[in-house]
Amino acid sequence: MENGQIYLHPEYEVIRDYDKCISCKVCVRQCANETHYYDEELGKVCADDASCVNCHRCVSLCPVRALKIRESEHQFRENSNWPGRKIREVYLQANTGGVMLGSMGTPNDYPTYWDKILLNASQVTNPSIDPLREPMETKTFLGKKNMPLVRGANGKLVPSKTPQIELDVPIMFSALSYGSISYNAHASLARADAELGICYNTGEGGLHEDFYKYGPNTIVQVASGRFGVSPGYLSAGAAVEIKMGQGAKPGIGGHLPGIKVGEDVARTRMIPVGSDAISPAPHHDIYSIEDLRQLVYSLKEATAYTKPIIVKISAVHNVAAIASGIARSGADIIAIDGFKGGTGAAPSRIRDNVGIPIEVALGAVDQRLREEGIRDEVSVVIGGSIHSSTDVVKAIALGADAVYIGTAALLSLGCHLCRSCHKNLCNWGIATQKPELVKRLNPDYGAQRLTNLVHAWKHEIMEVMGGMGINSIEALRGNRLMLRGVGLSEKELEILGIKYAGESL
Ligand code: SF4
Ligand code: SF4
Repeated sequence: MENGQIYLHPEYEVIRDYDKCISCKVCVRQCANETHYYDEELGKVCADDASCVNCHRCVSLCPVRALKIRESEHQFRENSNWPGRKIREVYLQANTGGVMLGSMGTPNDYPTYWDKILLNASQVTNPSIDPLREPMETKTFLGKKNMPLVRGANGKLVPSKTPQIELDVPIMFSALSYGSISYNAHASLARADAELGICYNTGEGGLHEDFYKYGPNTIVQVASGRFGVSPGYLSAGAAVEIKMGQGAKPGIGGHLPGIKVGEDVARTRMIPVGSDAISPAPHHDIYSIEDLRQLVYSLKEATAYTKPIIVKISAVHNVAAIASGIARSGADIIAIDGFKGGTGAAPSRIRDNVGIPIEVALGAVDQRLREEGIRDEVSVVIGGSIHSSTDVVKAIALGADAVYIGTAALLSLGCHLCRSCHKNLCNWGIATQKPELVKRLNPDYGAQRLTNLVHAWKHEIMEVMGGMGINSIEALRGNRLMLRGVGLSEKELEILGIKYAGESL
């Protein structure tokens, strides 16, 4: 113990094979955490394990594959009641007196319901469809669905089409704010969306002037801090999203550390350079559904009733009743973020313990809106643990109109899930504002990789739907008969609204 601090053994060990290492110092130059250094006396490259975050930048770029990073073999005197991670956390908090911050989604071992749901396939009487030879529709429209035919005094039909978002495939990129992620990461997302005919989301950081041209593929967000919100911003996007909650940190606001607020970010957010951008937990003008309705209609008014309004909430215990209220507030789309959703920075305790899984939230919301006869009044978009194309298919069959993907999009850009986005030292140029790091992400390649991912998922979605004998997303939506549960309790099946594997239709 030194100065009252308990020494903590590093979490990771850098293993260097000196038979292979040619002392090229690539790892020294590439590591923003300064883990690698050249020791003049020893005449070789060495490492300080304590600063390693296991981001794999050095491992990926070492020209002779001389490096490995592994979890430290050091163990605390742990037992089943006090595992090593919990002991480390107590020491850390006793050392610093601070709230523990973390990035990305919870690492805890909560059930992933997508993996306990199986899909149906056509066999004898209901033929499957070959997506390569037969038409298959993946286009999706988000917004109010019911458009009753109304005639005016002259007997002519009154146009009643409400504004909608049109997506070529029911996938969008989640809210990732400029500031939390880099300019080049935003450029990659914006370009990919235009190419794919889908949308990305500004998050609460405003819209950089260079990206206004991607407006038809952009969802602009209004959060409690109102960063970057102006009439031009609201009109620039395809839709406006009011952020009431975020899956990774339900019940609390947003926090962008001042170290990430450079000139460009400050101008876009309309805040001083270097200031922490803290958005309050509540919107200070919203304490009821009636208040929410006022903001929904203010935003509709501000955009001349040409944009759908999305209300985004975290998946929490009473989510079905909350969604019912949102549908009645006049919102066109409800976005629900599950508790496994990622984030640039959140208190780890909140991230790991607050909220509910998105699968059960979706099941409960879709059933409640149907029971109340208002399902077609709103579209439902979900996010927070969509890992693959089959998760998308299961989500649509469970009642979603579309999904948001965040972590999968970041992985496409090169993220290695080191969970240290809040430090501004992202070695992959994604969650950083340091120019020398930002330039490591080439937006052309970034956009290409995102496009590849969504193309691949689209093909798989069409293949799976074809195998089910379904030829459109519209026919798949809410088609729970196509789903069966395995390893789930009666209660879980009831909430999800699906049958057990082996039960017939
Ligand atoms: S990048 Fe590889 S070869 Fe070059 S110094 Fe580091 S470990 Fe050695
Ligand atoms: S975005 Fe960068 S800092 Fe954040 S988890 Fe991924 S690699 Fe690590």
